[in-house]
Amino acid sequence: MVPAQGTLAGEADVIAICTDPLDDEVVRYLVDSYPHLLSPVERSALRAVRAAARSSEGGGAARLLELWTNAAPEARELTAGGVAPCMRRLAERLWREHAEDIAFNTCPHCGGLAKSPSTKLCHHCWYDWH
Ligand SMILES: [Zn+2]
Repeated sequence: MVPAQGTLAGEADVIAICTDPLDDEVVRYLVDSYPHLLSPVERSALRAVRAAARSSEGGGAARLLELWTNAAPEARELTAGGVAPCMRRLAERLWREHAEDIAFNTCPHCGGLAKSPSTKLCHHCWYDWH
């Protein structure tokens, strides 16, 4: 029988979810679900590196990122390598320092990690637990 409610992952599930290194899906979940746990510089770095990735080579956002990171060594370290490495740094810091504040929402049907703590639609098996 399929439970009616979404499941907050228990300790054993969290151990399975939070592999070392963190899976890309977990990185996305942590960064996109817990932006309030990021520092102002981390939030700015993420916004800047994402905007630069969307802009064309040498475009305005890419140029702004370059100028900003030239002036701020901390931002340069956070944004080095582009969006994926930046997100991984932020997720690893969140998991290291805020594990007790993080809830993993898993699908009651397949156990897959949901897209966010509040979603009720599984993007793995499309089970809907609204
Ligand atoms: Zn599922």
